[in-house]
Amino acid sequence: MNNNSNFLIILVGLPASGKSTFALKLKKKLESNFQKKVKIIDPDIIRGIAFPNSFDFKNEPQIREKNIQSVRIHLTKGQIVISDDLNYYSSMRHDLKLIADSLNIKFYIVHISTPLKICLKRNEERGKPIPNKVIQNIYNKFDNFNKYKWDTPFETYDITQTSDEIQFLEILSNKIALNFKEQQKGKESLKKKHSPSIREKLDLITRKYVGELLKNPKYQMSKDTILEFRKLFIKSRANEELDVNKIIEAFKLYLNKKLKV
Ligand code: ADP
Ligand code: MG
Repeated sequence: MNNNSNFLIILVGLPASGKSTFALKLKKKLESNFQKKVKIIDPDIIRGIAFPNSFDFKNEPQIREKNIQSVRIHLTKGQIVISDDLNYYSSMRHDLKLIADSLNIKFYIVHISTPLKICLKRNEERGKPIPNKVIQNIYNKFDNFNKYKWDTPFETYDITQTSDEIQFLEILSNKIALNFKEQQKGKESLKKKHSPSIREKLDLITRKYVGELLKNPKYQMSKDTILEFRKLFIKSRANEELDVNKIIEAFKLYLNKKLKV
């Protein structure tokens, strides 16, 4: 694989839905399948390091900012990134999409859709690090998918439906690889179609210009010479990256000089 062979996984799920557990397993799977470093960005870890002693709402904007910055930094390094955040607002997912778009890389939303009841139970089992009320609240505010075309889960992991987690990870990883390859192919054919070589550009633009010029009877007499000069001009400029206007200007000057008009 060539440039931009990394991508972003956007996990979405309630607290205690199993995101961090899933992220670790997915990291292992992707690292072995893609031969690339996978970085998990978990705001809980960022918070724990920056503010180890207590939870304070006033720190949250700073943590969000740091979270977003970390995603960008690791993607820029070429790593595969898993955003292990709640991402329950569409706007949170959009922030991440913007990063991926700006770096021209793909993102995949994976919804860990563990039912609320199970999340509450798990939360209790692990000693209620978050009040159950908060989880209920997040559940109520959760932005549903599909309001925007981009905001659609690539895959949904529902433990009440999926019994074989290993198989799920395998399928997910393969699906990403396949999607990724298709995208690369798409990019290449787009390149071929839409970015002509300098030579092709020169050829097209000067041909058009000469076509117009030769409508003038004054130039008809030197038609063969002009056509020959056109060829020579293309040869002499084939290594320069010029925009359309500059090509026309340069060609005009070139012809005037050669024809001494
Ligand atoms: P999150 O990161 O979404 O808050 P965690 O991955 O920390 O969730 O998991 C929350 C709790 O649920 C933990 O106690 C974890 O051991 C448990 N857990 C996670 N995944 C599973 C699973 N597939 N089956 C059973 N328990 C799980
Ligand atoms: Mg977690």
